Amino acid sequence: MSFSAAQWRGHFPLLAAHPKLHYLDNAATGQLCEAALDAVTSHELQHRANVLRGTYRLAEQADAAYENARRQVAAYLNAAGPEEVVFTAGTTAAINLLAHAFGEGLDAGDEVVLSLAEHHSNFVPWQMLRERRGVALRFLPLAADGRLDLSRLDEFVSQRCKLVAVTHASNVTGAVTDLAPLVAAARAVGARVLVDGAQAVQHGQVDVAALGVDFYAFSGHKAFAPTGVGVLWGRSEALAALPPFLGGGGMIGRVTAGETTWAPPPRRFEAGTPPIAQAVGLGAALDWLRAQPWADMHAHTARLAQRLMDGLAVLPGLTFLGPRDLRQRLPIVSFTLAGIHPHDACQILDGHGVAVRGGHHCAQPLMDCFGVAGAVRASLVPYNDEADVGALLAGLKDAMRKLG
Ligand code: PLP
Repeated sequence: MSFSAAQWRGHFPLLAAHPKLHYLDNAATGQLCEAALDAVTSHELQHRANVLRGTYRLAEQADAAYENARRQVAAYLNAAGPEEVVFTAGTTAAINLLAHAFGEGLDAGDEVVLSLAEHHSNFVPWQMLRERRGVALRFLPLAADGRLDLSRLDEFVSQRCKLVAVTHASNVTGAVTDLAPLVAAARAVGARVLVDGAQAVQHGQVDVAALGVDFYAFSGHKAFAPTGVGVLWGRSEALAALPPFLGGGGMIGRVTAGETTWAPPPRRFEAGTPPIAQAVGLGAALDWLRAQPWADMHAHTARLAQRLMDGLAVLPGLTFLGPRDLRQRLPIVSFTLAGIHPHDACQILDGHGVAVRGGHHCAQPLMDCFGVAGAVRASLVPYNDEADVGALLAGLKDAMRKLG
């Protein structure tokens, strides 16, 4: 299958309805692909019922659709099986689930290793666990370009370490984490590894088996699927070792007045009615993504990111955040403009039909490392094209003229 950005764009109904929009805020939310939209619509029109509890045909069809979505997610992640896929409300919900379920087994003196590049979703839940259980947090430092500095790993991942929780790729710099040494260090001390995959899933299939990690969290809406659904993938034996987080319907084995036993994973972690149609949409989006020509698409987004970075490099007063080598990063490009607040720049850009994000990007510890309060971020996916990059660069020149 050959790739054309214009053709790809045609698979995204919102973009087709807004041909003049230069949507470059994909790291916040990818646009919904028609495969997901069609799957949600057809599910809601033909199979809408609650799952797990019904014995009539419609409910059995809803069950089948929901469990099929689990298989589709497992295939995208190269998981051992669908039973390793827990549906959640998103990355944030998945990490909070783990911080509670895994955190239950931790005590004062145990350590969780994070990095300073984390999104607040993989930062704050662990700080809250520190308050609850007295565990210590260790923060992997960053190199000047925002990549994790893994040169002193043995100092950070000690015998006290029970979990290493890091991002697969930064939502600010796009820097891709070199997971292999982290996994090796964690294995050497018997610690588990959680990867925040929120940014990575948008850029092609993930192979959790090859990564060798224990848990992987992501959100549907960043993978061109509906909002309100996400995934905590966990290796079977790692999930089986965890107690539930939320209690309620669907997660039980047997309830008596005296006690409750738990269902096996993944149901153990899915109390209450799950986001059924959203999961169906997510499964359809991932199936569609799996069939795309990713090598061509990566070449396309890398070309665009390079053109953007070259265009930014000649703008006066612009400071680029992150590694410059596109082999070490996703096409997420963040920068500051001397004397111009990111929000003001974004507002001017909006006037040019360019949607980008400005601010701290829920990564204040990373901003502190760079010594800035915020940045402008443009994040590219395969439906973006030269016109989007051109409009952004023209808009920035205008912002500099007006605000600089
Ligand atoms: N982790 C990273 C790296 C992110 O970029 C984001 C969202 O931007 C999240 C976690 C949180 O995702 P959600 O808000 O969908 O839970």
